[in-house]
Order: sequence, then structure tokens, then C-alpha cells
Amino acid sequence: MKKIILLLLCIGLSTNGYTQNEDEKQLKKIYDQALTDGQAYDWLNYLSNQIGGRLSGSLQAQEAVDYTKAQLDSLGLDRVWLQPVKVPKWVRGTPEFAYFETSPGLSTNVPICALGGSIATPLAGIKAGVVEVQGIEDLQKLGKAKIEGNIVFYNRPMDPTVISTFASYSGCVDQRYSGAEEAAKYGAVGIIVRSMNLRLDDYPHTGSMGYGDTPASKRIPAAAISTKGAELLSTTLKLSTDTQFYFKQNCKQFNDVDSFNVIGEIKGSEFPNEIMVVGGHLDSWDLGDGSHDDGAGCVQSMDVLRLLKVTGYKPKRTIRAVLFMNEENGLRGGNKYAEVASGKKEKHVFALESDAGGFTPRGFSFDCSDENLKQVHSWKSLFEPYYIHLFEKGYSGADIRPLKSDDMVLAGLRPDSQRYFVHHHAENDTFEHVNERELELGAATMASLVYLFDKYGIVK
Ligand SMILES: [Zn+2]
Repeated sequence: MKKIILLLLCIGLSTNGYTQNEDEKQLKKIYDQALTDGQAYDWLNYLSNQIGGRLSGSLQAQEAVDYTKAQLDSLGLDRVWLQPVKVPKWVRGTPEFAYFETSPGLSTNVPICALGGSIATPLAGIKAGVVEVQGIEDLQKLGKAKIEGNIVFYNRPMDPTVISTFASYSGCVDQRYSGAEEAAKYGAVGIIVRSMNLRLDDYPHTGSMGYGDTPASKRIPAAAISTKGAELLSTTLKLSTDTQFYFKQNCKQFNDVDSFNVIGEIKGSEFPNEIMVVGGHLDSWDLGDGSHDDGAGCVQSMDVLRLLKVTGYKPKRTIRAVLFMNEENGLRGGNKYAEVASGKKEKHVFALESDAGGFTPRGFSFDCSDENLKQVHSWKSLFEPYYIHLFEKGYSGADIRPLKSDDMVLAGLRPDSQRYFVHHHAENDTFEHVNERELELGAATMASLVYLFDKYGIVK
């Protein structure tokens, strides 16, 4: 037995069948290339600083489609194409304005922004009393008598004791998404939501909201207030319960428009019909330039194809970088991609999304079988030199989830999340907040996982 193990080690095979030495070398090549000659940061610079925020249906979103397609074209891939998808078009309009008033003429301005999908206020704005709540469940306790004719102010903060800030976000985001729909049932005239941000600052954070089946005539405008503004308003309400709040916004929903997912592909040499996807979403909110959310995920996904190519790796399976359109306010791109894949009976075996910011990668979360997770764990030591240690079950990504099937692996890149919600959907989600090395390490980490799954396949 000893002799066999020795022999396996000599020819570079570990006892579990993996060619450890070869894999170590390939990962090192990928990381070295990303850190010395990565393209992700340059691409992001262009997307962020030359194009800017890329809200679905905007001119910038189309420019981002054209730019990323041209860049993928330049990589010498086997195929690059645009996949048509209809997307919603919502426009913010002129900057929003808000203040609260403790007595006539004594007012304090506070930073707000309309939530994506909200209706406008009447032209002259809305002024009403404020009912502060800690969540949707408080509405029922207060009842129509206390809410009708007022503005509901949702002020439950993100829980700072939760280490995964995404979990903390999940614990709050119902206020933003469903707050208006629920408050309208009690006769509220508008809602203000505390921004989903763990830091106290002056940036309001937008994000999608929905009205459910509320008829158009019953819909009420919804805005986010900065965390500092929320604290100030809450303190003021304790001192002066008859404080009035005024806000004005003139956002508008237009008809759906034509847009595209952008796709680049390297054809598999052995199993071309087995498809592996790596992706991010090309659209972003309009307040910043969408560098972390999710320009980072797009340029990393593009760089995965390039890194595999320039390190001389020939994939056995077909590998696609997919830049999904309209994750933020509709998920039309993700749904369209899955719909076309199923229409063409394409066999997707793996999908990886990067949509958690361009910060230092820690690992991945997996939506897959126990066997596949075990397979990943057998590669743990390969990632150790890069401080990549998180390999656990969990959420993958919004755009790739529609592809889900029992026999495929869905994965999400998990970067350090502590700073993400400082920037998420706000004016300060900008290029200077992305660190070049952190971004490149993310691309290399993604490329490494793609390489391993391509080389060894998905165990059944
Ligand atoms: Zn995102």
C-alpha cells in the first residue's frame, strides 16, 4: 500500500484522485496572472467612470452592453453574442427634496431618494404627520385610526451584531420592498424607510420596492432616508409628536424597452454540451456608478474567461460569462437566460455569480448537494495559500437561481461583507471604493473554482 501511495505522490496524484501538484500550479498561474496583468480593474474603470450608473432601460445600460460586448469580442473567444430581453424603465427625474417641520417655519432638511419603482408625489409634494414604526407588523397594532392620512416611517435598523451583513440586510429589507404596499392598506399617504446601511451617514440608499396588487389609484410614494436623517427624525418625533414631514419626488415608470444580456463563451473540448456559467449583473442603480453592485461581478466574470485562456487552460466544458441585465428592478435578464436555456434544452451543470461587491474574497456559498459540497471541501487546501476558507451551503445569486436544477451546482462568491452596505445602492457606490487587488483576487478565486469544476466535473 505504502508503495502505491508513494507512486501516486511521485506522479503528482493525491490519493483522492486529484492531481494536486498540477492544480496547485494552475491556481498559482491564475492568481499570478490576475494580480500582475488582470483586466478587471481597467474594465471597471471604464464602466464606472466613462459610462456610470446603468439603470435598466437607460442610455448608460445600452452603452455598457456595447462596451462589454466589444471587450469580450477582443478576447478571441469562440462566441460572443447579445441575448435580447425586455426590461422595465423607471426614471428618477429631478432630485428629491425633503424636510421635517417641528413648528411652522422651523424646518430641517433631510437627505432622501425615491425607491426604485415608486410613484411620484403630487407636483407640490406631500406634507403630513409621521407615524414611526419598527416594521410592517407594527401597522396592525396601530390600526387605521392612527395611520390614515399620515406618512409611515419605517425605522428598524440593520442588526449590527450579525456578522454576515447580508443576513442583517435580509432582516430589514421587507420594510423597503413591501412597506408602501402594506401602509397603503391603512390609509397612509406615503412612506419613508430608513436606509439599509449599518453606518450613520448622509447617503440615502435606494432599492427596489413593489406595490403587489395595489390598484394604481391606491399607490403611495416611497422614499429612503439616510441613516443620520432617520436618527434625527426619530429623536425629533420623541420630543415633538406633531412633527410634519414634507417630501417631493417626480420619478416615473415608462413602458418596457429592449435590452440585452451579454454573453461570451469558450467552447468545451470534451463535453461541449455541458455548460458552466460565471456571471454578474450589468445594470445598476442610478445614484452612484454601480462599481461594487455589480460592475465588479461583471468584470470579474469577464476576466475568468481571459484568465483561463491566457494561463493556457483548455476547458473540457463550455464556459460562459453572462452579464445579466435588470437584476435590480425586475430580474428579467436572469429569467430570460434560464428560459432560453430550457427552450434550447441546454444542459447547465454549474453556475457561479459574483454580486456581493468587489471586496477581498473569503470563499463561496453553495446551493448544491452534500456530495458536491464534499467535492468542494476536497479542494480546500488548494485555496489555503490565498486565504480562501469559506465553503458552505447558502444562497448563490439572484440571476443564476432561475437555472436551478437538482443536478447542478450553484455558487456565489463571498467577499468580506463588512463595508458592502455602506455603498450598496447609494451615491457612494463608486470606483474609488474598489481596491484593485481585492477585485483581482476575486476574479482569480472565481476562475480557480471554475477550473476545478471543469477539470473534475460535477460528482453525482
Ligand atoms: Zn447586485
